Amino acid sequence: MGRDSLNQTGARPPIVCLVCGGRKLHYDFSIGPHRVEECATCGLMRLNPQPTDEELASIYSSAYFVFSGNSDGQLHAAGLKASTADYYLNLLEAYVGCPLSGRLLEVGCGQGDFLAQAAARGLSVTGVEYSSHAAQIAADKVRARGRVICGDIKQVIALGEQFDFVGSLVTRLVHRHVLSASFAADCQSG
Ligand SMILES: [Zn+2]
Repeated sequence: MGRDSLNQTGARPPIVCLVCGGRKLHYDFSIGPHRVEECATCGLMRLNPQPTDEELASIYSSAYFVFSGNSDGQLHAAGLKASTADYYLNLLEAYVGCPLSGRLLEVGCGQGDFLAQAAARGLSVTGVEYSSHAAQIAADKVRARGRVICGDIKQVIALGEQFDFVGSLVTRLVHRHVLSASFAADCQSG
């Protein structure tokens, strides 16, 4: 899941941009041993090479999320997240000019605070989250008002479904768009 497989010579194949399919990637900077490259076409930044599944599992452990070990802190954080979600949902509503409706996908939904707020406004929500621990918490918050997929964006694309809104609070990326095979082009023109 999420890894670029090795070819017969043991070298990784050329990396293409996950969003737009572009092959022109420029080195931006490094964080320790990790190189960050940027797509010349759409601006998506990513680590190259990508972390292994083992590294991701270790990063997104149950301790990854803010205040994860502190119940008072969790309450405080939940309030902040709800306010942030409302802020973005208000922006989205102002953009479309009418009460929100339709299907929303959040990439990297974490513990589901944004999804829950979006569902409360009547959107049919889908979240995708790499951390299984966080995905379970998100699913408990959303319950029958939506669903949470534990995995990455490739699994959502493979479903071939369409969404009216695609967003990620991680990247502050909000597009009113359709997610399908043309996800990349949509994001570019978004
Ligand atoms: Zn790109």
